[in-house]
Amino acid sequence: MENEKKTKFIHQAISDEILEKLSLKNRYSFLNTNLMTILDQKHMNFLRKAQKFCIRYEKKNNITHAPDEEFYHWIPDFGKEGLISRAHPYEEIDLNFPDNGLAIELMRCLALSFFDPQFSMAGGATILAINPIYYHHENIPIRLEILKKFVTGETPGAILITEPERGSDAIHMLTTCDEQEDGSFLLNGEKIFSTNGPKAGYVVAYATAEKNNGNTMAQFLIDTSWEGWNCDRVMIPWVPKVWIGHEHFTNLRVPKDYILGGVGKGREHLFEGLVPERIGIALDATSQSWNAIAHAAIYVNNRKQFDQMVLKFQGVGFLLTDLWARLSNVTQGLLRFCEKYDEKVEQFGGDLPKNLAQAMVAGASMYKYHTCALSKEICYEAANLMGGAGLCDNTLMHDLLNISRIQEIVGGSRQIQNYILSMALRQIYKMSGI
Ligand SMILES: Cc1cc2nc3c(=O)[nH]c(=O)nc-3n(C[C@H](O)[C@H](O)[C@H](O)COP(=O)(O)OP(=O)(O)OC[C@H]3O[C@@H](n4cnc5c(N)ncnc54)[C@H](O)[C@@H]3O)c2cc1C
Repeated sequence: MENEKKTKFIHQAISDEILEKLSLKNRYSFLNTNLMTILDQKHMNFLRKAQKFCIRYEKKNNITHAPDEEFYHWIPDFGKEGLISRAHPYEEIDLNFPDNGLAIELMRCLALSFFDPQFSMAGGATILAINPIYYHHENIPIRLEILKKFVTGETPGAILITEPERGSDAIHMLTTCDEQEDGSFLLNGEKIFSTNGPKAGYVVAYATAEKNNGNTMAQFLIDTSWEGWNCDRVMIPWVPKVWIGHEHFTNLRVPKDYILGGVGKGREHLFEGLVPERIGIALDATSQSWNAIAHAAIYVNNRKQFDQMVLKFQGVGFLLTDLWARLSNVTQGLLRFCEKYDEKVEQFGGDLPKNLAQAMVAGASMYKYHTCALSKEICYEAANLMGGAGLCDNTLMHDLLNISRIQEIVGGSRQIQNYILSMALRQIYKMSGI
């Protein structure tokens, strides 16, 4: 075997020159130039500040975004910078972010998703655990303490809805909760696909007093160091850096202070969380699409074939401009939705009235449905426009392509969004008095 050569793995097909042009700084510049005419100064300033932090952080820590890179230890640094969640001002935990709301969340998401799409996706799951505590902390000290730990990045969070036998049909749960004499509950059952589950210090989980009865659902906050909590990791190859959990609860005791919504309140809390969850996914999908368009636009302006930059060939240029135009339009729509949402929250002093929140359900489903479908198309086609270089793992195209295919499943699949929308359409028809 003397002559046997050792095979070396290489991840780079692209020239060093073009790879440098694809830097985070340049991709941010492309994005900012696009958004210049549609963002107001407050949003642009926040976006630039978050971008500056990400550029420095990447450089200072020699972050390569390689497939085997770990990222959970970055979370406290992003927490210190106030980049975990800006959905609320968080006055109750002494943070008082002056820049907050859904439009600011879009800016935060654009900055983080360009930096590292898988890191941004994992952060989204912490936000899903933040929201129910924010709305239902009732000034109970332990709830505020956990809320602060999430928002400041002390630990990631997770939300546990899905079960092995109950995915889309989330309200007919099998995980049970039995009330004890002292007001605590014992939880028994199984959850699966919980993003951050194996890494989270605390999670928010749903269970039901009677199996398959949505009217008896309850919502709990769980400390993952408690006895009765057991979590394995589910490996999802499309997002290999995100830790996803499969949990077993065995007589897991939840004390009174950790009950966010008692029996009968769970379903309401679940639906309340779905609007911000779907909008959050729409923000992520839109950010991923811009990242993919930025990669492709920089690439085709530099890559030459037949002695010309490939952008100048109609097959390339017209495809990219078609995607670019559709993304620009949907971004403007999404931004308007976010700004209107923020206006209403301000008008009603923090919380949206129930009927208004209900009216946002269709909009949230529409944006989730539309942006995820668009991101799936854009990430694939943008990689395609980069030829072989788009298929290597030394750019973020690989991550973007894979994540874009997951977005259509999480937070309610494409078909479930269609189902929700068809019911909403019926409602609108009835309301129109025709
Ligand atoms: C990477 C990843 C991360 C996730 N993170 C979380 C998380 O943090 N927390 C959490 O609780 N869950 C999480 N999930 C779970 C996710 O929300 C579910 O996978 C999703 O809701 C679909 O459930 P299911 O996988 O059981 O598919 P199923 O419900 O079994 O669906 C199978 C197929 O049937 C279709 N279908 C089902 N019902 C209908 C219907 N009524 N009409 C038309 N079509 C239908 C679906 O669209 C799908 O195509 C995650 C999943 C993944 C893959």
